[in-house]
Amino acid sequence: MLTPDLPASPAAPDRLPDPPDIGGTPDIFYLGASPVPSCGATQARYIAYVDPARTGGVGVAFTSRHGGVSAPPFDSFTLGQAGGADPAQVRENLELVQSDLGLRALVGVHQVHGTKIVPVHTGIGVTPAYMEGDGLVTQAPGLGLLIKAADCVPVMLGDAAAGVVAAAHAGRVGLLAGVLPAAVAALRQRGAQQITAWIGPHVCGLCYEVPADMAEAAWRQLPATQATSRRGTPAIDLGAGAAAQLQDLGCHVVRLDPCTVESPDLFSYRRDAERSGRQGGIVWLA
Ligand SMILES: [Zn+2]
Repeated sequence: MLTPDLPASPAAPDRLPDPPDIGGTPDIFYLGASPVPSCGATQARYIAYVDPARTGGVGVAFTSRHGGVSAPPFDSFTLGQAGGADPAQVRENLELVQSDLGLRALVGVHQVHGTKIVPVHTGIGVTPAYMEGDGLVTQAPGLGLLIKAADCVPVMLGDAAAGVVAAAHAGRVGLLAGVLPAAVAALRQRGAQQITAWIGPHVCGLCYEVPADMAEAAWRQLPATQATSRRGTPAIDLGAGAAAQLQDLGCHVVRLDPCTVESPDLFSYRRDAERSGRQGGIVWLA
């Protein structure tokens, strides 16, 4: 997670930015489209949903903050207990994800800003995040791999033909440490050849102002992260860095990544600090 070490960005706009050009693909929806049948049209629990029927078997969803049961300030669909969200309500939210997406299990990890990718073979229901790691990989159908984030970059990856999916948590530290190459390697070790990577909501470069030395260290290591904040100061573009790294690794990249700080439909640690919940990225094999 990101530290709230600098002033919050200007007021959030009242709507999401327009979806990125995704080549006319009809299987990706934004908030308001609410494509997951069991959600109903008004709950909008998902910022984006990729229907596994249209990808040959890989499903992807990125959650919003709406349509859950958590009390303020975690209203209402937080998927993590960070900041003191009520564990029973978080569990209920996770069960809503599981049921919406038709998963037999939803599995997370205790995220620590590292590069460890945890293999998952089985699971039933909502599994507590008892293992440390910043990614998961599975070849088992029906298992939803969950990454929680407030401003860090959730990346969902998969190769439908090879029958393998992975999820990774790429904040500044994990991205620079190589969590994405680790996730791609885990997929390739299991036979993946044509990997698609879906990048989810995160803090954008305009909003991620950091001290100059921190920015320069990131730019040196991953030049695509170079950015300037809205105030004209050094900043880091995590999404551009992640996309460049994934493309260099031979992945097809799809960006579904409105800015968390700017969107009232998403949680943001940079904006709300300890009062921020966590949204999720989920990937699974149908
Ligand atoms: Zn932004």
